[in-house]
Amino acid sequence: MPEVTLENIAKMYGSVVASEDINLTIHDKEYVTILGPSGCGKTTLIRMIAGIIEPTRGKVYIDGMNMEGVPIEERGIGYVFQNIALFPHLKALENVSYGPIVHDLGREEAIEISTKYLELVKLLDRMKMFPSELSGGEQQKVSLARALATGAKLLLLDEPLSALDARVRMDLRYELRRLAKSLGLTVLHVTHDQEEAMTVSDRIVVMRNGRVVEINTPEMLYRDPQHIFTANFVG
Ligand code: ADP
Ligand code: MG
Repeated sequence: MPEVTLENIAKMYGSVVASEDINLTIHDKEYVTILGPSGCGKTTLIRMIAGIIEPTRGKVYIDGMNMEGVPIEERGIGYVFQNIALFPHLKALENVSYGPIVHDLGREEAIEISTKYLELVKLLDRMKMFPSELSGGEQQKVSLARALATGAKLLLLDEPLSALDARVRMDLRYELRRLAKSLGLTVLHVTHDQEEAMTVSDRIVVMRNGRVVEINTPEMLYRDPQHIFTANFVG
């Protein structure tokens, strides 16, 4: 039952304030997007939840447990990185099945699950190919299938659709949300694309300069934005 709570999070890189005063709860089975322009601190935030970097101040809780010092592999998350990080020496199917194998499934079951997710992202015919033989969009889909195949109930997606063609991107938006809801996943999805955020989210967190501007449902942000920044960005 993953619920993520961020309490007074701040992250400094020297004099650069990447995050400040972040308070946020993502409820179990909720689909939340972080929406904001490039450089506003989205990736920094998702990395702190994943445990790739530690906050300078504040606390991250998953399932009510303080995550301080807990490594990424013990946080129960599936992560799609902004810069696709596939293993170059493994074929697509092996990249996807890497997660489930690590999680102690038998080899056959891991292959079965991985094949299922590759089918879902429409890449069955590419499963024997190496990342270097795939397009950017295809690599992003493999990355997504791998995150899903870990069986994690909490998905962290950092601009997961950015490398895809417009058409595929739109199809996958709906697919992502449908999948999350049917599998009962809790999702934190980072994007700079307001249309994408409006389509997939239960709630949207609008960010600017490392801070949360406002949090609301897509409908309310569109109909009744509380800040001019939101109105300009969403409208
Ligand atoms: P976004 O994902 O919204 O584009 P980031 O979280 O990547 O934004 O970056 C937020 C700010 O923090 C930017 O000003 C960026 O230059 C800075 N930043 C991010 N990572 C580092 C780092 N490792 N060292 C120094 N500054 C960083
Ligand atoms: Mg980023």
